[in-house]
Order: sequence, then structure tokens, then C-alpha cells
Amino acid sequence: MTVPPEAQQHQADRAAQAAATAAAVRSVWMAADPEDLEGSWLAGAMLAAELIHAGQVAAASSAEPWLTQETGPGEGAVDPETAAAAAAGDLTIPLLYPLLIAFNRLRRGFSVAMSILSGAAFLEMVTRSLVADAGRIADMAGMIARPRVVSYVRVVHLPACARCIILAGNEYSLSDGFMRHPRCDCTLAPRRPGDTWELASPEALFGQMDPAQQRRAFGQAGADAIREGADIGQVVNARRGMTTKTLYRREVQATSEGTTRRGLYAARRKRFEKAVGTRFGESTRARARTKAVRLMPEEIYRLADGDRDHAIRLLRKNAYIV
Ligand SMILES: [Zn+2]
Repeated sequence: MTVPPEAQQHQADRAAQAAATAAAVRSVWMAADPEDLEGSWLAGAMLAAELIHAGQVAAASSAEPWLTQETGPGEGAVDPETAAAAAAGDLTIPLLYPLLIAFNRLRRGFSVAMSILSGAAFLEMVTRSLVADAGRIADMAGMIARPRVVSYVRVVHLPACARCIILAGNEYSLSDGFMRHPRCDCTLAPRRPGDTWELASPEALFGQMDPAQQRRAFGQAGADAIREGADIGQVVNARRGMTTKTLYRREVQATSEGTTRRGLYAARRKRFEKAVGTRFGESTRARARTKAVRLMPEEIYRLADGDRDHAIRLLRKNAYIV
């Protein structure tokens, strides 16, 4: 047996949640007026931000009941709003980029329809990632809040990409940030000392895929080599495009700090910040929570340095659990 069916169901629920939110956000973008893309998307961006936030909260809300069913109650209940805030960061960038991508395409001579579709593809990808991240951050906080959970494993749903498959057999410390790539729909499952289920190895997962899936994930040459006995880890460039949320946030921060000064971008960014910010302006509590989130759950665990009670205190201080 690989990961328990409940963990697989949890993964399927999360993937469905991310897909539904992405479809809703995409339809807001697609409804923008091609004659006035910027103006109409500026008006729609607030609704898109609402939808992303709602999807994130819905995903994060499933952490607490799921973990309670799996491992019993924690030392506090996960606050889905905090997980959503930690995953979202500043929504201005994800909502502004589809527009910049569409303008870039138009400048390069693509049709209006094609340019709008390019923006839609980006928006869909980033929405899926934001929803999946919120769910995973909530899971991570919930696991740290349950001292009987000692580590976590990756739940990989087949067919999956090569990079996720080679991580499937690993067991991770709660101080390890979750490695993911854009659109990654892998989730986490808790491990306790008494758990006897075995993890499927990358080789076993490879064996469960049909030849077409193997080819898509590893390329024809890679799939052939693995079938002939090559080591999967040698065939795959494991870290390419994979990053943790912590790292990603620092990159976004650096990028946005670097680009804020550029004229056109800066003016647009301000307008979007205003449009998107209205949504969060409604609640000072929500804004305070967004500001208060400084550390990811895995960073908290690392800081606590083996002192679980301290980790739980820090989770509470950072509003991850209430
Ligand atoms: Zn993957």
C-alpha cells in the first residue's frame, strides 16, 4: 500500500478546489473587454482577488477536519485566513502580470484573441498555485500543531511530472519547506512513529504509468533508459523550476523591488494595488493578519529547534492556529 486512501482523497479534493477557482478567475479575465483590456481588467481584478481569496480559504479550511480525522485534534485549530494570507502575499503581481503578458504579445504582433489567451494561461497557473499553497501551508501548520506527527511525505497523483515522481519516496522533516513548481498539485500527508504504510518509490510510480504517460513525464529517451534499468534520479534534473514558498516569496520581493521604479510598470502597479487593496481594505483585521504573517510554518519549526511546545506557541503567535 502507498499513502492511505484518505490522503489520496485529500489530494484529489485540493486539486479539484484549485481547478474550480482557476476556472472562475479565468472567466473573469476572459470577460474583459478586448477594446479596453486594461480598464475592464482593472475593474474585474477586485472580483478575481475575491475569488482567489475564497478558493484559498476553502482549500485551507479542509486541513483541520482532515488532520483531526487522521491523527486526532491538535493543540489549536488551523486558521484558514492566516494560511490564505501567507500564501497570497501581495496579489497585485499575479493579477497585473496577465495584462502585461497580453500587452507584450500584442506588441509582438499576436492577435488580440491569442494575446488574451496567453494572459489567461498565466492567470490560471498562478491561481492554481496560490490555492494549492494555501492548502499546503494550512496542512503544515496543522501537522506542527500535532506533536504526534513527526514528519511528512509527498502525495503524488499519477500521472505526474518527473520532478514530483522522484520526490515521492522521500520522508521530510517538518522544517523542510514543500518543494513545488507552478501548477503542482501534490499535497502532504502526516507520518507518525507507528505508521507502517510504505511509500511508493519513484520506480514503483514509474511502473504504474502507461508508456505514453512515462514518455510525457520523462521524454522518450529518459523513459527508455529507466525501463532499461537506469536510475531515475540520474535521468531527471530534480531541482529545475522547483522552489519552496519561502524562497518564492523572497524572489517576488526582490523582483518587485527591482521593477517598481520602472515608469509604466510602477504606475500600473499602483492602480492595481488600489483596485485589489479595496478588497482587503474592508477588514482591518484581515489586513493586520496579512501584515502579521512573517514566517512560514516550516520556518517556525526550524526556529523552535526541536522544542515542539515552543513551535506551537510561535504558530499561535503568528495566528496560524487559534
Ligand atoms: Zn510535478
